[in-house]
Amino acid sequence: MLPADTLAGRVAVITGGSSGLGLAMARCFASLGASLVLAARNAERLERAAKELEASGAPVLAVPMDVRDPAQVDELLARTLERFQRLDILVNNAAGNFVCPAHELSVNGWNAVINIVLNGTFYCSRAVGRHWIEKRQPGTILNIIATYAWHGGPGTVHSAAAKAGVLAMTRTLAVEWAPYGIRVNAIAPGPIDKTGGAEQLWATPEAAERLRSAIPLGRFGEPEEVAHAAAYLVSDYASYMTGECLVIDGGLWLGRNLFVERTPKRK
Ligand code: NAP
Repeated sequence: MLPADTLAGRVAVITGGSSGLGLAMARCFASLGASLVLAARNAERLERAAKELEASGAPVLAVPMDVRDPAQVDELLARTLERFQRLDILVNNAAGNFVCPAHELSVNGWNAVINIVLNGTFYCSRAVGRHWIEKRQPGTILNIIATYAWHGGPGTVHSAAAKAGVLAMTRTLAVEWAPYGIRVNAIAPGPIDKTGGAEQLWATPEAAERLRSAIPLGRFGEPEEVAHAAAYLVSDYASYMTGECLVIDGGLWLGRNLFVERTPKRK
């Protein structure tokens, strides 16, 4: 358990902070003393999330915006600085995803996901990185990717390709920006319950059971299990860590291609 003042005085921008993993990270960062900026498109959902966090005592700014538009990204940064006069943490979490065989995927479908995940992550990182470099201020970026960035994702070629790009971006910016005191890391979550990902990717009980039975730890992850790791990575406790990707997937990707039967669950 991280101390309650781990993120005291820090301001964190979380894209896609209105639901799923983004909201879980926002709750966790708020409980550790951070002020929050939540960015997403749907203003109503964003307001609901902001109200909930404010009720817990956290200072919150909700900014309806689309990460695909660099002008709206600049506006997000400007509004953050206007409200809090500083920015310390950027979490690139916003994403869209759906299952579709590659040969049936439309150009629009491909572009939508590449624009949100790959381009949106770059626009946000560039805007915030420039600001920190100009101000000679340290900062930390956390990118939320997925393990199919390296093992591939049949049915999600758009998202797998975009996440692979974000992993390469994580490692590239970590080295380019290390001299400025900027750390850049990633988390690759496995299947996490109670998220938009769960609704999109394993919507039926059959699909959920097929996936669950392949997870060595035998269950889906909880959003809080990702949020706690995220809080550690953006905190000073991870001050010597950059360019790294932390996998939180119950052993799923390592457990692919088993040649033996899974060890039965302990009673
Ligand atoms: P989610 O509940 O669907 O949340 C996605 C968030 O992104 C929403 O707040 C959404 O709000 C926002 N968003 C989408 N498009 C946007 C845009 N163009 N501009 C700004 N905001 C946008 O997703 P999740 O399942 O928690 O996933 C969060 C992250 O974890 C994603 O990067 C995902 O790829 C990754 N991940 C999730 C899982 C999982 O099991 N859930 C597994 C591996 C990786 P609006 O629609 O209002 O814009």
